[in-house]
Amino acid sequence: MEVVSQVLPFRVNRYVIEQLIDWKQVPEDPIFQLTFPQPGMLSPEHFRRVSDAMDTGDRAHLAREVDAVRRELNPHPAGQMEHNVPRPDGKPLRGVQHKYAETVLFFPARGQTCHSYCSFCFRWAQFIGDTGLRFSGQEISQLHRYLRSHLEVNDLLITGGDPMVMKTRHLGELLDGLLTPGLEHVRDIRIGTKSLSFWPYRYVTDPDADELLRLFERVVESGRHLSLMAHVNHWRELETPIAREAIRRIRDTGAVIRTQAPLLAHVNDDPHVWNRLWRTQVRLGMVPYYMFVERDTGARHYFEVPLVRAWNIYREAASHLSGLARTVRGPSMSAAPGKVEVLGVEELQGEKVFVLRFLQARDPGWCYRPFFARFDERATWLDQLEPAFGEPRFFFQ
Ligand SMILES: *Cc1c(COP(=O)(O)O)cnc(C)c1O
Ligand code: SF4
Repeated sequence: MEVVSQVLPFRVNRYVIEQLIDWKQVPEDPIFQLTFPQPGMLSPEHFRRVSDAMDTGDRAHLAREVDAVRRELNPHPAGQMEHNVPRPDGKPLRGVQHKYAETVLFFPARGQTCHSYCSFCFRWAQFIGDTGLRFSGQEISQLHRYLRSHLEVNDLLITGGDPMVMKTRHLGELLDGLLTPGLEHVRDIRIGTKSLSFWPYRYVTDPDADELLRLFERVVESGRHLSLMAHVNHWRELETPIAREAIRRIRDTGAVIRTQAPLLAHVNDDPHVWNRLWRTQVRLGMVPYYMFVERDTGARHYFEVPLVRAWNIYREAASHLSGLARTVRGPSMSAAPGKVEVLGVEELQGEKVFVLRFLQARDPGWCYRPFFARFDERATWLDQLEPAFGEPRFFFQ
């Protein structure tokens, strides 16, 4: 754990330790796997390099080795920090990403951390100080100004890290500001968060919890749609009384809770886990939204699941559910050109192929058109797929 946590961020809190992890099941326990460093998270070669450097006792040498290993772990997947950043006056608007016309992503500076860290996190680089994400104090007013001049944006997605680590006072600056004249076109406001799983006290007993719920109510009363996009990997995260209370209190404000999570080896690569997760969510009034494919970054080789297996898990889990839970799309890869869903495996013109489609794309005209890749039982990400039928490239390339 010491070796792995030199490279990948590690942070866990008392709630996760005392209430979520079942210590009788360790090390297999899914929440332990989700949050604690595991030896297999580094390749044997990387592990040895860091471990040897630790043994020398030379801190400068260790820092160099750690840095080198991190750079080999694709710390900024899908160009998330460089691409789609608006430059209204020639200068990049820090903390804002605008990839799909109707949706703007906002990364508030104070929300760029988490209550605990998932060891597969695709934002892992920013948690170890390699931010590329240093914001100015003006970021919130700059965001409001940008939105005022972009009437095509009706969907704002506030993301992190976890924006719900922010004090209500700071969230209020952001959200109340959206309710002012000139921003009526921003109708849907989403907040991506893991707080329901990692710190449900945020909505119940934190000193500014009640004030937070009043803020949510103001957003809803203004006629906007407020959606908490809750990251939930395992149904166990929804079983504690405090999590249940948090869900009830959030729903009472009129906000909707939608749920999403990546499919991860060692944590939830089992159709029964997803089936129970989605059933539980529907029963608690939450809306299943996305099942993601583990991204090409960090400890990916520890968590990744072949696309064909991901599709089979999705299919098995979803086909024993009522339509209420079939709102969930997936398995979906958030890649540079857009979100690509694995629709299935078929045999066409004598060739075994993956059937894929864009759920979201840089070019909206790409969405929902089935396209085909040569079947590969080991492929885990879009960049490992080749076009089917001998085509030289995919239609979007
Ligand atoms: C997923 C994602 C969104 C939101 O997409 P929806 O399909 O509307 O949920 C927006 N921007 C980026 C960059 C994304 O990856
Ligand atoms: S909750 Fe999300 S942002 Fe936070 S550590 Fe986990 S994956 Fe990363």
